[in-house]
Amino acid sequence: MKESSADNSKQRAIDQLKKARNTGDDGLLLAIASGNRSALAQGITRVETGHSDWLSQMPPTSKKSIRIGISGVPGAGKSTLIESLGMLLVDQGMRVAVLAIDPASPVSKGSILGDKTRMERLSMHERAFVRPSSNGTTLGGVTKSTREAMHLCEHAGYDIIIIETVGVGQSEIAVRAMCDYFLLLLLAGAGDQLQGIKRGIMEICDGIAITKADGENTSNAQNAVGEFTTALHYFPARDHGLMPQVIAISAQENRGIDTLWQMIQHAYSYLDDRGLVEQNRQTQYLSWLHEMIREQTVAQFYLNNKTAIEAAEISIKSKQSTPYVAANYILKNS
Ligand code: GDP
Repeated sequence: MKESSADNSKQRAIDQLKKARNTGDDGLLLAIASGNRSALAQGITRVETGHSDWLSQMPPTSKKSIRIGISGVPGAGKSTLIESLGMLLVDQGMRVAVLAIDPASPVSKGSILGDKTRMERLSMHERAFVRPSSNGTTLGGVTKSTREAMHLCEHAGYDIIIIETVGVGQSEIAVRAMCDYFLLLLLAGAGDQLQGIKRGIMEICDGIAITKADGENTSNAQNAVGEFTTALHYFPARDHGLMPQVIAISAQENRGIDTLWQMIQHAYSYLDDRGLVEQNRQTQYLSWLHEMIREQTVAQFYLNNKTAIEAAEISIKSKQSTPYVAANYILKNS
């Protein structure tokens, strides 16, 4: 009896949530959905500057883009690869969006897209959208705006979304959590330390591309393919059972790029056929839900209890109270 009344009220809440989407006519979202790239850029600027409320007007996405994360140290060849891969995809009629995530500004000296002219051909292509990195201050902030930017690209109907990240810090983990396929770029013979290869990154990648496999570097790159393939066998098998593959590519000479694309497609189909892409998205959406609730609850709590918290800080500093007593007091009396 009790259970059914709980079920009824849950069903009522579900019905209300369906109606809760603010369906006000936001011209920007309509323009984004119609494929207008400057509207998309404007929308991304909005979320990067902390204005995300209007996203509640966005309907749940019906379209599923393939999301590819690409990581590697500066100079590993990310932008050259993304240009070649992106051109291959747009030439096949697909629409490609490229986003960059770069929270580690001191290491990579600001935006990873920097002032170099990057992905020149791709950014000019009508079926591509290339967005330079937002210079976020915190990983959390950059992750949130990249996630929102990714949703806007999906709303704009892009088939492929590539998220680029420099191989430092925790950003790979954040990007991994947003993507369907995570590719690690490595240079042959550059030394593991230099490339920041950590056990953790090898464990989360779906594939490795040894870059710049051309000229004098060709045989080095081929050897590296063997070495990394062997190394990957020492890692625990993935739950889904698919082993990450290693490939040598030359983005400059446009070699191996189509094989790389086949490798990505194969992994994606393998996961999709088993319902794992959908399952992964559902897990992501649920963790975003809880993250947003936590973030906003905490922010609201601090706002509502500003004076009490300041008073607690003073009394702790002057040893009139302890964090334990003060926190308990504020939580009980808020
Ligand atoms: P990113 O910093 O990881 O985005 O690396 P870039 O794509 O900017 O490449 C760094 C440098 O490596 C540039 O000078 C590129 O021209 C060069 N490069 C990139 N890909 C290749 C390649 O396939 N072969 C060779 N020989 N050089 C490459």
